[in-house]
Amino acid sequence: MFKFCPKCGKKEGNFIKGFCQDCFLQDNKLLIYPDKIQIECCKRCDKIKIQRNWIELHSFELTDFLKTKIKAKEFELQEIEFELEEAEKKNFNALIEAKGLIEGNPLMLTGVIKLQFVSSICDSCMKISSDYFEATFQLRFLDNKTDRKVILNKVENLIQEMSKKDPLSRIVKLIELKNGFDLVLSSNRSAKISSEKIAKQFNSKIIKSFSVVGVDKTGKEKRRYTYCVRI
Ligand SMILES: [Zn+2]
Ligand SMILES: [Zn+2]
Repeated sequence: MFKFCPKCGKKEGNFIKGFCQDCFLQDNKLLIYPDKIQIECCKRCDKIKIQRNWIELHSFELTDFLKTKIKAKEFELQEIEFELEEAEKKNFNALIEAKGLIEGNPLMLTGVIKLQFVSSICDSCMKISSDYFEATFQLRFLDNKTDRKVILNKVENLIQEMSKKDPLSRIVKLIELKNGFDLVLSSNRSAKISSEKIAKQFNSKIIKSFSVVGVDKTGKEKRRYTYCVRI
């Protein structure tokens, strides 16, 4: 049978639905999948969170999960494999290799899903290190007129609110002092944001400082921050 691609004029090679394979694949997405997926990654043990479970990155659970994200259109999907490739900023790319049939002819399709890791801490690491902390929010009162408990409550609510997205947003220790409170927090981010919000609300400034407490696995300095707000 005489073959002729109406788009590019090609006369040889594989044809799909009247077009050459290249033109057809350019115009038709046979695999539907997200460009990127955000995945929580434990900063202490490198486990990742898939649905509700913390699992190893190189595992069949991850492969099974990725499979559920891929839908075939006009393509009879027979076999799908993933290869993980390290990408920038400690992220990974899941390289897709899908084998199947189109109009009864074998075809292999490739693609990429970016796995974007969001730093978190897994349940077991959290339990092991229930006293894990990154920062201290020092709340100081300049006089005795301020209702301290009300302001403390505001901070606690802010931290609680942020814990929905950041599991480390929690108070490890609360120390009551003569002139205020020290809130020891697992999450530096939540210490930073909550102190910024309180400082803004009370027209105050933040005095930020840090101490170096060691180095992490990658040789980067581990710091503990202090945010002091006087109101
Ligand atoms: Zn063509
Ligand atoms: Zn962990």
